[in-house]
Amino acid sequence: MPDRMLQFVRLPQETPPKRDVATRRADFDEIYRRFDIPHASAQASRCSQCGVPFCSIHCPLSNHIPDWLKLTAEGRLEEAYEVSSATNNFPEICGRICPQDRLCEGNCVIEKGFESVTIGAVERFITDTAFERGWVRPARPRAELGGSVGIIGAGPAGLAAAEQLRRLGYAVHVYDRHDRVGGLMIYGIPNFKLEKEIVLRRRRLLEEAGIVFHTGVDVGPGLSFADLRARHDAVLIATGVYVARDIGGPGAGLPGIVPALSYLIASNRTGLGDTVPGFAEGTLDARGKDVVVIGGGDTAMDCVRTAVRQGAASVRCLYRRDRANMPGSMREVRNAEEEGVEFVWLSAPEAFLGDARVSGVRAVRMHLGLPDASGRQSVEPVEGSHFSLPADLVVKALGFDPEDLPGAFGEDALAVSRWGTVKVDHRSFMTSLPGVFAAGDIVRGASLVVWAIRDGRDAAAQMHAWMRQNAAVQNAAMQVAAE
Ligand code: FAD
Ligand code: SF4
Ligand code: SF4
Repeated sequence: MPDRMLQFVRLPQETPPKRDVATRRADFDEIYRRFDIPHASAQASRCSQCGVPFCSIHCPLSNHIPDWLKLTAEGRLEEAYEVSSATNNFPEICGRICPQDRLCEGNCVIEKGFESVTIGAVERFITDTAFERGWVRPARPRAELGGSVGIIGAGPAGLAAAEQLRRLGYAVHVYDRHDRVGGLMIYGIPNFKLEKEIVLRRRRLLEEAGIVFHTGVDVGPGLSFADLRARHDAVLIATGVYVARDIGGPGAGLPGIVPALSYLIASNRTGLGDTVPGFAEGTLDARGKDVVVIGGGDTAMDCVRTAVRQGAASVRCLYRRDRANMPGSMREVRNAEEEGVEFVWLSAPEAFLGDARVSGVRAVRMHLGLPDASGRQSVEPVEGSHFSLPADLVVKALGFDPEDLPGAFGEDALAVSRWGTVKVDHRSFMTSLPGVFAAGDIVRGASLVVWAIRDGRDAAAQMHAWMRQNAAVQNAAMQVAAE
């Protein structure tokens, strides 16, 4: 091992510089700058090259992290890119938006005494550099296999599967109801975490590989699921989860109370240059408003930080548990606090105030009780602790459930779990319908981009195995018939 590794004892952790708060509050550009070559190399050299790398074990893609860190430390960036892209279809995206504190970096063994290696920032640096230097090439196959695959959903699960299957030699068609490719990476996650050009750049590359995108096609009402199955040898369902969990109570139907995704889609579309109904009229724009966001996950963090950038008068996040029990990434909470968001912990809404439209939220303080069956502490209201917050825009960010897919697809034989997620055989990724596979959030419930990529890759490998076996069986049958 070269001397230049194990530098964590000498070199402190450095993350890429963050833009200062005043400038980043005023635009939607990404907040982290990129490492330059000396910093990337120095930070990569902090890795102690563990024999059992816990970082890789806790990366959903089992990335060969110590290998590409070492190559980066040695300045062998093209090789670092080759190793990094061998296990991850979109490393520059994961480097930007994975909650590293809960995954690779949170499990880096030097984390306890010395602060973890900045794995995500190095991963992003490697692939951004590879794009700039022309090392990223479309996944063109060596030979066409003749089979055809239909993928429903152009989010990370569908796109990762599409790239893997195209590389193997299949004709790949991806159908999406939206007009742009990327799923939640284009319309959910805001530009200040993931600039849209990064996603559009991937689309161009996938098209260059020969993948055909059919945007604006809503499978079910637009194109029947049966027709789609008839067009292809195998189908992948990667439709994500989009039914927003709602909140009841007095005043819950007042104008000015909006679901998180409608709010974020309007903001992202506006940033992409679209004219969005509701945005210009102010229904989905926080400018000058007192904003209350309800929820404590990553979606809520994206909403509060979007509201700050839109020029809201005040932005509060109402969450019924405390900071330690929040599902959202701590890094995003810290970013939101720096940008001026006020967190109202241990508080839940009881009613929405106002006549013609919402003007406030009445809330009650909560305290954490005993753990429930899932091990999570229950929350109980504190008697007589009511208070009100002014709000002329309330954003509900309470999570998402799957839509009724058997109903939407007119296919009762498609088995779903009691939560509505599509049931698959966990080894073959096949649903209850032969030749129909599923991956991503529609199988696991609302999760992460990195898990969607993992599922898409695994499903693609299983689809390939199934199509080969099917073709072999058909060939054998034809041979028997001919004899
Ligand atoms: P999706 O990305 O949801 O893509 C599904 C696609 O299917 C969509 O494009 C949809 O239009 C299409 N579709 C659905 N039904 C049909 C149909 N009938 N016909 C045609 N097309 C259809 N994860 C992270 O790792 N880091 C983050 O920082 C992060 N932030 C997030 C912020 C927000 C606001 C949200 C909502 C999620 C965030 N996530 C984050 C989660 C992450 O985006 C998802 O886990 C991931 O995108 C799931 O990928 P998927 O491919 O399964 O589905
Ligand atoms: Fe870490 Fe995500 Fe990269 Fe894996 S994909 S190494 S979890 S940033
Ligand atoms: Fe390097 Fe940390 Fe991974 Fe060990 S756990 S190999 S120190 S990044």
